[in-house]
Amino acid sequence: MRSIVIHYNEIALKGRNRPYFMSRLVRNIRQATADAGVSFVRVLNGRFEVELAPDADLDVVRDRLSRVFGIGNFARAGRSGVDLEQLGRDIIDGLNLPGGREPASFRIAARRADKRHGMTSMDIERTLGAMVQAAKGWKVDLGNPEMTIRVEMLGTETFYSFGNEQGAGGLPTGVSGRVACLLSGGIDSPVAAWRMMRRGCRAYFIHFHSYPVLSRASQEKASELARLLTTWQLHSRLYLVPFADIQQKALMTVDPALRVVIYRRLMFRIAEQIARRVRAQALVTGEVVGQVASQTLENMTVIDAAASLPVLRPLIGMDKDEIVEAAKTLGTYPISIIPDQDCCTLFTPKHPATSTSIEQIEQAERGLDADALVEAAIAAAAVEDFKFPMIGLRTRESEGAERGNGAPRATEPGGVQGPPPEKT
Ligand code: ATP
Ligand code: MG
Repeated sequence: MRSIVIHYNEIALKGRNRPYFMSRLVRNIRQATADAGVSFVRVLNGRFEVELAPDADLDVVRDRLSRVFGIGNFARAGRSGVDLEQLGRDIIDGLNLPGGREPASFRIAARRADKRHGMTSMDIERTLGAMVQAAKGWKVDLGNPEMTIRVEMLGTETFYSFGNEQGAGGLPTGVSGRVACLLSGGIDSPVAAWRMMRRGCRAYFIHFHSYPVLSRASQEKASELARLLTTWQLHSRLYLVPFADIQQKALMTVDPALRVVIYRRLMFRIAEQIARRVRAQALVTGEVVGQVASQTLENMTVIDAAASLPVLRPLIGMDKDEIVEAAKTLGTYPISIIPDQDCCTLFTPKHPATSTSIEQIEQAERGLDADALVEAAIAAAAVEDFKFPMIGLRTRESEGAERGNGAPRATEPGGVQGPPPEKT
């Protein structure tokens, strides 16, 4: 039998929540591999085992599993009897399958639950090691092997696995509730969103754009980023909120130096309303202390006062080069650096105020009918839903209108109504 064994780390520690976390993880693994020739086998001794169909594409399965939060690591595995010759042949067959790794060196690590077989673990290791070496030509390295082949002899069967692949870590999507992520199209905010996603939060994305004053480029980037981030949480929603009207109103009444802070406060108000509608419990931004004028502690305090939900800033203490590195690893970086025109730079001076006070800002906002602006922006927001993987899944809007893996399913102009696509 060909299978994959999956180890979870941290969720093993979660006392009373454990059954809930486990069932969530199982469901997420099932959904992520729904079209990849995988069927669920069993939950055993602190790990899961999934069975691979004969035609399963190992690279696809690997890629899917590497995006499921809550998985610590995983490995290709199989089962055989207790006859050593047969076991050796089964292991070699497994190693010969297409998509398998070709390490330069290996070792066998054997364990016996049942000591009756009359052989020591070392005997088993030597015998199997010699067979694998003869068949594959790989070097045996007991100290620092590239692949460790683990063999566990149980009562009447033997379980074996090949090497170890790094999982995404974190907690299963959905166990930590929902967050509303302000997704700009820049480098930082997708990384911030991903960090919260990895901690088990389902992310709802909100993008503010200045179309038609500026081009559609920022919306296309936000859409691409949401599509990519969906590969880790399987379904997502993106709200595209028009912001140009608000900016034009502010142009008439607000001191240019204060505009960035006021824009941000209005973004937070709008985001909070959307968050409440989808039952998200916090706002998330990609802000970093001191990175730009709006990200001083003074200005963050003033901006935070516009929202009553907590504002989470998972990148708050990171350097730019660390964030860039994370963005490259995730694959968001090439999308983020596509040139666009950022809505926050529209009608703002080169040197905005770095230190504002709540009194000063409230004074400046007096000329704006903020409640009406927030309401109008929400009414005009468009919604895009994303799913991954596409096959076998149907969406509300467009049954049959397949547009490739994780492509945006539908854009609905006309505001933010209705509940989110699925319960999480
Ligand atoms: P990023 O790379 O995420 O754009 P940044 O360094 O450019 O960050 P700012 O432009 O000051 O910083 O934005 C700070 C945060 O505010 C962003 O990380 C994002 O969460 C939010 N934000 C800014 N502009 C937008 C926008 N147009 N739509 C949605 N969120 C935004
Ligand atoms: Mg930005």
